[in-house]
Amino acid sequence: MTEEIIMFNSKEAAQFKTNLSGWVSRDGIYYGANERLARYVGCTHRPCEDCGEPIEKSWFICQKCREKKDIQRYKAMPKEIWNEEGGIYSDPHNKFFWSWNEVEDYCYDNEIKEEDLRLVICEPQYPRLIEEDYFCDELADDGDDELPSEIVKAMEAFNKVLKQSAPLSWRPGNEAAIRNKTIK
Ligand SMILES: [Zn+2]
Repeated sequence: MTEEIIMFNSKEAAQFKTNLSGWVSRDGIYYGANERLARYVGCTHRPCEDCGEPIEKSWFICQKCREKKDIQRYKAMPKEIWNEEGGIYSDPHNKFFWSWNEVEDYCYDNEIKEEDLRLVICEPQYPRLIEEDYFCDELADDGDDELPSEIVKAMEAFNKVLKQSAPLSWRPGNEAAIRNKTIK
């Protein structure tokens, strides 16, 4: 790819215009008919799309409306009994819990209700196995070359270890965590 060279003093670099009309943002850049873009560049805030309150322009809806939506989304989630296997996660409090006791202590210490945590069951994240094509960038492009058998064997052995691994981490899934009502 060759990049076109535009010299400082060429007529392509800039042109003197007369009788311009169009939108100019606060910092003096001309956007022609694009009022929306000129306004976006020139503003710092815009109205929340739900309630109309001023918010920083990079957001679409305000903190309060986001929270409202999060609560709605949480209420719509399927509910599943969590028997303290793996972890559960609270998005509003950005915290993982590993037992119901821990949840109770946290609620007590922070003077909040359990439902305020909007607990979600986490899913285990196991190590990804390495695939045969892991070295495709290093092999010749013609596709005829194969990996040396020692490497293939080592990859198989490595994958075997990975398959037996405990979860490397836990990530919030798509089910709300509830208690088994029969055992408290
Ligand atoms: Zn709002």
